[in-house]
Amino acid sequence: MKNTFSIAIHGGAGTIRQSEMTEERKDELQKCLRTAILRGRHILDNGGSAIDATCAAVVEMEDSPLFNAGRGSVFNSSGFIEMDASVMCGQTLAAGAVTCVRNIKNPVLAAKALLEHSSHVLLSGADAESFSRNHNIEFEQDDFFYTEHRYQQLKDAQKKDRVQLDHSDENDGKFGTVGAVALDKNGNLAASTSTGGMTNQLPGRVGDTPLIGSGNYANNRTCAVSCTGIGEGFIRAVSAYDVSALMEYKGLSLEQACKLVVHEKLHKVEGMGGLIAVDKSGAVSLPFNSEGMYRAWLTAGTDIQIAMYKN
Ligand code: ASP
Repeated sequence: MKNTFSIAIHGGAGTIRQSEMTEERKDELQKCLRTAILRGRHILDNGGSAIDATCAAVVEMEDSPLFNAGRGSVFNSSGFIEMDASVMCGQTLAAGAVTCVRNIKNPVLAAKALLEHSSHVLLSGADAESFSRNHNIEFEQDDFFYTEHRYQQLKDAQKKDRVQLDHSDENDGKFGTVGAVALDKNGNLAASTSTGGMTNQLPGRVGDTPLIGSGNYANNRTCAVSCTGIGEGFIRAVSAYDVSALMEYKGLSLEQACKLVVHEKLHKVEGMGGLIAVDKSGAVSLPFNSEGMYRAWLTAGTDIQIAMYKN
């Protein structure tokens, strides 16, 4: 076992107006990102797995009404919440994902249960919920997920007749999709991502988050990646896998591969957002082509770094 590990997390990317960011809001956000990354660090520091560390960090953010995942998920055009999540293990390439699930408190744990207890990779809707119930995943009533702010976002998006990222409206104080990537002391990589999708999306719409290779990917030969932004672009560009493929087949460094995917390839499909990635040596990259991306990262022996905007 080596004495080194790395972890990076994100809380969504998009149009984050600096003018709207009050000190209070910034503090709240940073506090949550810090707590989430500390949960992951604690596990990695004690020799735990990258899968457990990424899931723990994601659970922390799913439990916060600040982020568009779990409790703070956005409403679809029919006024209800459908969530997506996925987990991938870089050592075995095993993966689990759920899509269009309702009332699951922590969708990332449902995805993890699928990874651990089934040969299937992706389950949807009511069947994913039944599977989760059978594996003792916690459920909550609708009112647990209801936030007035999200409801107003839906009304606003409907008035403008558009589908939008959760933090792309003018009066927004909430944050985005969540994800975590990590390298553990055994040299194993993992990626976990969770989302409520996009405000005013059609019921049944599936974004990039539960699609292995698009919004989430991990492979010990290369890297672990978690994406955030308008999912359709990440699906069309197969972004998460592309970072890994560019490293494996073209010999690019993590930094080079991430830059190419986010700043060139995503643009070609009008993709907006960013990703977080960690490679097998523990290097971290967090590029985005949007105004901002909520993010935090650390490597063994270094302080936690937290950022929102480009600088
Ligand atoms: N990628 C997510 C989706 O399209 C949304 C986000 O990252 O905020 O469902």
